[in-house]
Amino acid sequence: MIIRDVLDFLEEVAPLNLQESYDNAGLLCGDASREVTGVLTCLDSTEEVVAEAQQLGCNLIVAHHPIIFGGLKKLTGEHYVERAIIRAIKNDIAIYAIHTNLDNILHRGVNERIAQQLGLIEVEILSPKVNSGDPNIGSGAIGFLPREMKAGEFLDYLKKCMSLEVVRHTEIVREMISKVGLCGGSGRFLLETAKEAECDVFISADFKYHEFFEANGQIMVVDIGHFESERFTIELLQALIQGKFSKFAAYCTKETTNPINYR
Ligand SMILES: [Zn+2]
Repeated sequence: MIIRDVLDFLEEVAPLNLQESYDNAGLLCGDASREVTGVLTCLDSTEEVVAEAQQLGCNLIVAHHPIIFGGLKKLTGEHYVERAIIRAIKNDIAIYAIHTNLDNILHRGVNERIAQQLGLIEVEILSPKVNSGDPNIGSGAIGFLPREMKAGEFLDYLKKCMSLEVVRHTEIVREMISKVGLCGGSGRFLLETAKEAECDVFISADFKYHEFFEANGQIMVVDIGHFESERFTIELLQALIQGKFSKFAAYCTKETTNPINYR
């Protein structure tokens, strides 16, 4: 089993041509013709994660976020991206990113996984890519809670389901919550779509101060944090790979790569 076999499978699930134009998903470093010794899944393939892969004997890291994103102009080890890449190359560890292509599929994608975590039913893509002709391709997800909940109860439920310490939310506009729009990561571009779809709540991350105002008394925006919204993607990828391949082990990283701390 070579690395290319794993990548081919991942690209069957989430084809690279479904990534957004600004993205850099795909094989970022390493030789895909090498035998796979093990796979480590993560959100961010930082130097610590590369070290963990080394310890576990894994020569393939499958990350959600492309650690090389804006380009690399040097490799001195001064910047955290350079350190991760240097360590990976020195140790023959390949890094592969499955990013907006995994965001843009419903089945086995980032947002379906969040919907599962919340027990949502009748889950669909929130904003289908019209030109794809496939309603299961596009951004975000929409679905219904297993039962209607009071807004306060819903926020507690959300915290429990997503293992959150804290949520940031706009004013409660509807007493009862049933229809949920969501998007893992930076999903504010979907706020208007969520309003048009008459969602009671929109769950995402990376909202700035003025962007919270855009809830405009029409919907409750809940910002759960970028890392927190996507952390289950690590398990999603591990289960996907281990479910397909039994000749090597796939592990979830134990490193918490969230750069944000709370206290
Ligand atoms: Zn993300």
